[in-house]
Amino acid sequence: MGRKPSKLKIIPLGGLSEIGKNMTAIEYRDEIIIIDCGLSFPEDEMLGIDIVIPDISYILKNKDKVKAILLTHGHEDHIGALPYVLKKINIPVYGTRLTLGLVENKLKEHKLGSVHLQRVNPGDSIKLGIFTVEFIQSCHSIPDACAIAVHTPVGIVFHTGDFKIDYTPIDGELIDLHKIAELGQKGVLVMLADSTNAERRGATMSEKNVGATFENIFRNTDKRIIVATFSSNVHRVQQVMEAAQKYNRKVVISGRSMVNVVGVAVDLGILTLPENLIIDIDEMDRYNDNEIVIITTGSQGEPMAALSRMASNEHKKLEIRQGDLVVFSSSPIPGNEKLISRVINQLFEKGAEVIYESLAEVHVSGHACQEELKLMHRLVKPKYFIPVHGEYRHLMKHAKLAADLGMPEENIFTINNGTIVEFTKDYAKVNGSVPAGRVLVDGLGVGDVGNIVLRDRKHLAEDGLMVVVVTLAKETGKIVAGPDIISRGFVYVRESEVLMVEAKEVVKNALEICENQNIREWAALKNSIRDGLKDFLYEKTKRRPMILPVIMEV
Ligand SMILES: [Zn+2]
Ligand SMILES: [Zn+2]
Repeated sequence: MGRKPSKLKIIPLGGLSEIGKNMTAIEYRDEIIIIDCGLSFPEDEMLGIDIVIPDISYILKNKDKVKAILLTHGHEDHIGALPYVLKKINIPVYGTRLTLGLVENKLKEHKLGSVHLQRVNPGDSIKLGIFTVEFIQSCHSIPDACAIAVHTPVGIVFHTGDFKIDYTPIDGELIDLHKIAELGQKGVLVMLADSTNAERRGATMSEKNVGATFENIFRNTDKRIIVATFSSNVHRVQQVMEAAQKYNRKVVISGRSMVNVVGVAVDLGILTLPENLIIDIDEMDRYNDNEIVIITTGSQGEPMAALSRMASNEHKKLEIRQGDLVVFSSSPIPGNEKLISRVINQLFEKGAEVIYESLAEVHVSGHACQEELKLMHRLVKPKYFIPVHGEYRHLMKHAKLAADLGMPEENIFTINNGTIVEFTKDYAKVNGSVPAGRVLVDGLGVGDVGNIVLRDRKHLAEDGLMVVVVTLAKETGKIVAGPDIISRGFVYVRESEVLMVEAKEVVKNALEICENQNIREWAALKNSIRDGLKDFLYEKTKRRPMILPVIMEV
């Protein structure tokens, strides 16, 4: 009896039905490789949560199988979870120049020293166990982005990573369409492709267009110019610097991640700038307004970022003033619209002129629109297709686009995080799933904040907290001291003295009833305090604060 043919499994652990925390496992027999390891930012209802990372319990369970993590590019939603994952499992990480440059910084912050980082160049082909992995030059809103082709015994898996097709890229590094077409010619088993812009018609504009817009803006103003953009968009930063150079302005870099990324990019030779173009923030006073450009973080309205602090007078060295010109060279990441519009309002209030995407071509996307996606599908000609990187509606749109191009619907897998898709030479099918939820990172704690904690935080945020402290005599169960009531975020105590006095009475009564019935268990006592107070407070205030009874015995 022959051995049954082995199956190839593709398991997305993040990045499906969401924007962020991209991570995909590719498994054959006892070998696994992982593509990307990203984070996402918390949604509004996740109070106090700093970041969200993928659930990697499947990876941990199969630790010994994992050969490597391969990175497509250096955006947070592709590398941000690395420190948390590498703390649990030490595996080599492969990526290109800038990607690893950013990873190194990240690992330093987390004091992770002994990680094996393997730098690759686009075009490189690497053997990892049974797999052969090719890094293919791509194009995105960060330099050194790659698509990845994984050659497996069952066939070629092609992962586009985030991409767009720019025929006139700033660094001249064209997406390697020839290589991609060649893979298509060989025969690609399955493609996983970026769906972020699958709803948008046409094609994404070239990054070069933004440069022309900047030139226009710079040519026509005497104002101090402040440009807010993503620090990782090195080509955008480069174009702002070129415009500054051309119109005799000095550049001030502001914001921690901007300083950080510009430093890495200059060190690696990705960002080339004329000498003396950048000046220190403290030297700015020596120049006139029309001799200055400030490049800053905060284009998403992040409250802690430099631009927000400038707009709200919280920045130590910079303040927005009458006559400034602020350019938002970015588009809102879904969910950030409110934050951004708050900052824009503040900037207008300060007397600044503000230019943002809907007014001018000061930004282009880093993701492929429909016409670019179609080109990719036509070149790769995969047998099967899994849309990735996008909310569910984006995945559905992308699936429809593939179907419109003639792919049989049964060959398209619109799936969710954790779904296992299994491939042999004859068929592909969904076969089970692995855990793939969200792991919440709160400060230094990873995964220790679960749904119950979140529910509590939501409760606290909405209705506040009331702590009831009462001391009982050990022998008799009678009240010795208290009840004392401390409240936070519920009512302002000084204005609600009567309410507090009444609340204490309610607690006393509840305890007396317990005493009379000879109830002495603390859990029961706490429950009767909670129940009595809850009804009373709701009746008086129509609010339901969280009630925490604390009983002490003497
Ligand atoms: Zn990206
Ligand atoms: Zn991405």
